[in-house]
Amino acid sequence: MRKTTSPEATKQLALTLAPYLRPGDVVVLSGDLGAGKTQFVQGVAAGLGVSASVTSPTFNILLSYPEGALPLYHFDLYRLEHSDELEDTGFYETVDGDGATFIEWGEKFPEALPYGYLEVSIGVDVDGNRLVQAHALGDRSRQLLFVWAKDSKSRL
Ligand code: ADP
Ligand code: MG
Repeated sequence: MRKTTSPEATKQLALTLAPYLRPGDVVVLSGDLGAGKTQFVQGVAAGLGVSASVTSPTFNILLSYPEGALPLYHFDLYRLEHSDELEDTGFYETVDGDGATFIEWGEKFPEALPYGYLEVSIGVDVDGNRLVQAHALGDRSRQLLFVWAKDSKSRL
């Protein structure tokens, strides 16, 4: 678990994950509205060298940033009601594709998630600090978490 006391600190923590991402990696971001999930993706984008500004894909469902060291795909499933709507968004090809995929509200559709992924949950404490926790499912995500945690010199 890592506590971040500013939006910049959350972005900085996310930035340290970027160099370890590989094609096909999936990160599910959980946490309430306003917790900092999109801030986290902004940090990853900065770490990948994406210069475009990263905004919330709430209305677009998917925003793609192909210009970084690795293509970055950012889903926000908040507005989707059924997992059968996912097919039309390109969800399954994207998750299996050439880049790293970050999914806000992915936990709404557990049946649609791949076998392995990294779950990053962001909570808010009474002082407004963010508590960032990570949990790995599957061998590849465990490896990803291991190198990230080692780099960020913290348990995550
Ligand atoms: P989400 O995508 O989870 O709905 P956002 O990332 O869009 O949330 O928004 C998080 C909001 O919380 C931003 O307005 C940000 O400035 C604010 N904030 C305050 N403290 C933090 C922090 N430690 N980490 C991340 N965001 C923070
Ligand atoms: Mg968001």
